[in-house]
Amino acid sequence: MPRIAALIVAAGRGERMGGDVPKQYRPVGGVPMLRRTIQLFARRDDIDLVQVVIGANDQAHYEAATNGLPLLPVLAGGPTRQHSVMHGLEALAPYRPDCVLIHDAARPLASQALIGRVIDGLNQGAEAAVPMVAVTDTLRRREADGVWTAVPREGMARAQTPQGFRFETIRKIHRDNAGGNATDDMAMVQSAGIAVQAVDGEETNLKVTTESDMALAERLLGGVADIRTGMGFDAHRFAPGDHLWLCGVKIAHDHGLEGHSDADAGLHALTDAVLGAIGAGDIGQHFPPSDERWRGASSDRFLAHAAELATKAGGRIVNCDVTLICERPKIGPHRDAMRARVADILKIDVSRVSVKATTTEGMGFTGRREGIAAQAIATVAFA
Ligand code: MG
Repeated sequence: MPRIAALIVAAGRGERMGGDVPKQYRPVGGVPMLRRTIQLFARRDDIDLVQVVIGANDQAHYEAATNGLPLLPVLAGGPTRQHSVMHGLEALAPYRPDCVLIHDAARPLASQALIGRVIDGLNQGAEAAVPMVAVTDTLRRREADGVWTAVPREGMARAQTPQGFRFETIRKIHRDNAGGNATDDMAMVQSAGIAVQAVDGEETNLKVTTESDMALAERLLGGVADIRTGMGFDAHRFAPGDHLWLCGVKIAHDHGLEGHSDADAGLHALTDAVLGAIGAGDIGQHFPPSDERWRGASSDRFLAHAAELATKAGGRIVNCDVTLICERPKIGPHRDAMRARVADILKIDVSRVSVKATTTEGMGFTGRREGIAAQAIATVAFA
């Protein structure tokens, strides 16, 4: 398998849109545009490295937008797009990728199929593969005298990104032409006499440039939300002790809970719910009770691990809901602390975390006060 890198150019100021926050950091479909764009690549098994180039003053925006994503250290771009791309290529060079896909942060809607076509083109031997979309509107050019003359559209197409290249080829071309102001990399390889293979682009792979593009992107995303849910259940038996852990909160009680780790049934059920939503097995597979490393372990690390896997898979935890089932201890006084702790572990707002409690009216093992059970559900949205 060739080693493929993605280089995402996010250094533009988006001057056509104005506003204090550059457009690539504004939310689209509830997720910062840059995060959405990065995830198009980060979630793929055939892409090994993701390098982002940002504007010199955008570090704080960048960090907020990309929290938890598996990325190479970010780079500040230069005065032009060409300059920024060259910076990114030089940063990737030590990793010796075979190919690179260069993509604009402002295209958050490229489909996985489109990216796959660019990669296929390279895998089949093309030096450069670029998605193209035929022009269907009638084209007009405004002449000096103000008259709009018709331009034949036959054979006309629009070039999109990601544009794929052999790494050393595009790197050499950038080195040989440093200081230029090319608006895309296809133009640069063509002036070096290299053939470009066209692959099918997509109308929906729009470049978000204006407020009306932003609105269109929102509408397109509204129809393609990919929402997944997972559920979890856990129970632990009471044992001698003077405290127990539930939903990451230590509670003084006349019993403890028995378990290999800290026996936090609430966090265990929720960990399974998150793993379930992303189809990643269960807590026992990731943290086997037979493994001495997890003896007495604090369960927040189990949940944090599940959340990290969800992020790596391209997901975003939308909300979760835990029900604790016991006669004692009373959960009400600890509910707010539990919600805050879970929100903290999952790195989501507390409004997205619910903790509820019920008894079983004296029936069953929880009713006999033999132990505590917990159920949880988690919702994960994919870009
Ligand atoms: Mg458990």
